[in-house]
Amino acid sequence: MNTHANFIAGDWVAGQDLIQNINPSDTRDLIGHYAQASRTQTETAIAAADAALPKWAASTPQQRADALDAVGSEILARKAELGDLLAREEGKALPDALGEVLRAAQIFKFFAGEALRIPGESMASTRPGMGVAVTREPVGVVGIITPWNFPIAIPAWKIAPALAYGNTVVFKPAELVPGCAWALAEMLSRAGLPAGTFNLVMGPGREVGEEMLNDPRVSAITFTGSEGTGRKVAHACVGRAGAMARFQLEMGGKNPLVVLNDADLSVAVECAINGAFYATGQRCTASSRLVVTEGIHDRFVAAMVQRMKSLKVGDARQAGTVIGPVVNATQLQQDLSYIALGSAEGAKLVAGGQHHGLIEGRPGFYLEPALFIDTHNAMRINREEIFGPVASVIRVRDHEEALSVANDTPYGLSAGVCTTSLKMASHFQRHLQAGMVMVNAPTAGVDPHVPFGGRKASSHGPREQGRYAADFYTTVKTAYIHP
Ligand code: ADP
Repeated sequence: MNTHANFIAGDWVAGQDLIQNINPSDTRDLIGHYAQASRTQTETAIAAADAALPKWAASTPQQRADALDAVGSEILARKAELGDLLAREEGKALPDALGEVLRAAQIFKFFAGEALRIPGESMASTRPGMGVAVTREPVGVVGIITPWNFPIAIPAWKIAPALAYGNTVVFKPAELVPGCAWALAEMLSRAGLPAGTFNLVMGPGREVGEEMLNDPRVSAITFTGSEGTGRKVAHACVGRAGAMARFQLEMGGKNPLVVLNDADLSVAVECAINGAFYATGQRCTASSRLVVTEGIHDRFVAAMVQRMKSLKVGDARQAGTVIGPVVNATQLQQDLSYIALGSAEGAKLVAGGQHHGLIEGRPGFYLEPALFIDTHNAMRINREEIFGPVASVIRVRDHEEALSVANDTPYGLSAGVCTTSLKMASHFQRHLQAGMVMVNAPTAGVDPHVPFGGRKASSHGPREQGRYAADFYTTVKTAYIHP
């Protein structure tokens, strides 16, 4: 049997259980068996990370840089194999899976560099003879809880900065995608980190995750996942006796893409197709609301329907596939029930929405990307995150109504506008209420070296990625020195 253990205190440790990792493009394909840690094993991992902290916190920037750089290089060298594994376990079409793997490598390389440039400040005091030094120190043991939709990039953008800034790590990946997590852990196990610096505990959120939230030795929790679980994380972190845990949450989105009358139609259609449907719509930055002004509305809808015919749905690893399967049966059910709800709410389905249980002889969770028109912003399909290849067109009068509809949502992760007017581009850049704004670009798809995060119900806490990651993974010390 192809089994994969957890990595705790520098050793590979069998779990209390094993789960199967199944390919959503072909449910007959078993990728492997993965250990599920018990609560006691999670505690052991936390204790190991706690014990390893003084040594890793005192490691030189060069040691940290070398370890992260080695992982980045290995990911690059094994890009094809890891991309294949990612597409196989998550269902992301191979070109997108390869892009995600590349991004994970870039993130490790970026933070290898950042480890060498941990910033500080030295300044004069207001008091005579005194000096002031502002330095950044590690936070401590960081608990990392990740979702299934970016099986290698999200772990990378949490693990790499945590280690770069001298923290130790307990990492719990999502149950659905243990393959990439395990592969990453295996590379980290050979990267020269002292035992206990990095620990992998695969297992259920309710046990392994909660153990991490409640253990006072875990000083910080970084979480990406659903809003409901995010709120539980927040409650647990502030509800602890003694010191509260620092926490950072990345949650849902209901991202608008505004298309104005003066947009280049083909650019707008490509932005919408990519943003709404690539990665099977399973991105928190997906464009699920297409807010279109009336002068271009009919042409935009006709071009979308036409373009959607060329989106080949199929096995994520087959050449030519653009849209892989939905990740599993539960998510598929959720997507289908929202499609039914859209019709019940009075929206008109103009393309897609059909589920195929079998494509080219492979049993999988296939769903044709769906486009609704005649929708309005108060419909549940326009307010709740669906997390599938489902998008709605909302017709609006003019740019003012477009902006107000775009911002009328509980979320604020990403937002886009398609226009050829510099004046409009600047106006929307300024007034869209989102952490990330895209002009003539899809709402999803971001660079690895700049901040990622949102506003309102989408996010809480400091930004991830880029130099801004230091704000979460370090704690500032202000020293007053009188010689
Ligand atoms: P998704 O819809 O992406 O699966 P979840 O919020 O359910 O979103 O899961 C995101 C991550 O949070 C997963 O790793 C999951 O195991 C973990 N998780 C789920 N429930 C809890 C919990 N009660 N405590 C801690 N972590 C949890």
